[in-house]
Amino acid sequence: MELVTINYKKNIMKEYHRQQCTVNSALKFALLLIIMVSAAVLTSYKPIQAAPREAAREARYVFLFIGDGMGPAQVKLSEVLLQDKHSLAMTAFPVLGMATTHSADHLITDSGAASTALATGKKTTIGTISMAGNHLDTLKTIPEMAKAKGMKTGIVSSVGIDDATPASFYAHNASRNNLYDIALQMASSGVDYFGGGYSAGNFPENQTKSKAFRGDITALMQSSHYVIAHNTTELASIKPGAHCWAYSDYDSKGALSFAMDRRNGMDKLAEFTREGIRLLNNPKGFFMMVEGGKIDWACHANDAAAVAHDIEAFDKAIGEALVFYRHHPKETLIVVTADHECGGLSLGNATNGYETHFDLLHHQKISQQRFAEKLSVWKKRDLVTFPMALDSVRAFYGLSLAHADSALALSKKDCNTLREAYLKTMKTESAGTKIPDTFTPAVTGILNNRAGIGWNSNVHTAVPVQVFAIGRGAEAFKGFFDNTDIAKKIMQIAGLKPSIK
Ligand SMILES: [Zn+2]
Repeated sequence: MELVTINYKKNIMKEYHRQQCTVNSALKFALLLIIMVSAAVLTSYKPIQAAPREAAREARYVFLFIGDGMGPAQVKLSEVLLQDKHSLAMTAFPVLGMATTHSADHLITDSGAASTALATGKKTTIGTISMAGNHLDTLKTIPEMAKAKGMKTGIVSSVGIDDATPASFYAHNASRNNLYDIALQMASSGVDYFGGGYSAGNFPENQTKSKAFRGDITALMQSSHYVIAHNTTELASIKPGAHCWAYSDYDSKGALSFAMDRRNGMDKLAEFTREGIRLLNNPKGFFMMVEGGKIDWACHANDAAAVAHDIEAFDKAIGEALVFYRHHPKETLIVVTADHECGGLSLGNATNGYETHFDLLHHQKISQQRFAEKLSVWKKRDLVTFPMALDSVRAFYGLSLAHADSALALSKKDCNTLREAYLKTMKTESAGTKIPDTFTPAVTGILNNRAGIGWNSNVHTAVPVQVFAIGRGAEAFKGFFDNTDIAKKIMQIAGLKPSIK
């Protein structure tokens, strides 16, 4: 796959240079035309009607990729750790910008407010889904504008389809937590394709929380003429033009599993993207939003290896858009950005100074969440001792008491810390109290620290995010701007009409 990515990069650059040459010839030709037309005007003294050139310049196919929680350090980490250095498809894009992410009420935003900014071009308060901060006015979204123009629309995410980021592109709600009410809006949204995660709002515990309960979301979608695809095999058989909701194996939150835990389905997000392109492709064009949502979840967990793998999976989805771009280079715009940074990730830490050992993260075989799930099974069975737990630490993280590689050897102090955390975590819970798992984050923390990774937070930060762009109108994304400007630029380039609903 690395080779494929490198080929993308070469092809992108080739395409870019070819376009530059075409542009130069086109400029000369245009200059000649201007001289000829001017001469005609001067001789005839007739006013010239403005030719309808604007429409021809609009991007017909627009992709917006959102790496949730993907700050600049996260991108670099993935590139250094997993690729042949500097070879992610997104970092080979010819245009780079930076965007601020603050919400209407906080310097540090959340996915609700940030995605509302990216979907509507307007600021709102944190936790809000495409409504103004007063929670009265709904804000018109890019998919709504695109649909009004006759374009098809698609929304893909590796987390639940009613999670804040995808939700902001099809729903309007005062709170991101009203998951059922948000999911309810899928059927009436007019969006042609939903792909990726399931609906957490459709879980019984969230159905009962809703005052607007109207039944099972999948049944409601079917009665609104959406075909349901329960896996990517079923999705592949759906005919272009059909309204479709496709999901796959999902976890207790409706999300796809972390990329590093999917041995046989690493490219799920790419598959949902590729199939979405197949379904949406039509002469009037389309808008497609694809979210790498698990990047953020890995950042919240301070799990660097999982971050790097999910960015790689996200980048493969971008690769699918690039395949399409190569067939329609003059009509396609691809924008890649993040809604915010998460975790305050630093590449380098106080323990290691100028030294980094990111390759140590290759010893981590499963995500922190998957390891925590194993621990909770041990706890239920009450059969696993601390030495047995350390065996699993060696198997899944490479860390052990007597390791030939000193970078992976647990010190006496580490061992004491882990024993203390283990005993605390395995304590029997009394009714109504839940003992948090402090053992798993301690193990991940030791490996991250040894690698030279620093985490400063378990939540989001205000660090500006990168914006990568290629294709029709991409030059507009050069420079330093606000996240609301990303939506405004897309609207302008695609000829969409923004207005309050
Ligand atoms: Zn988050």
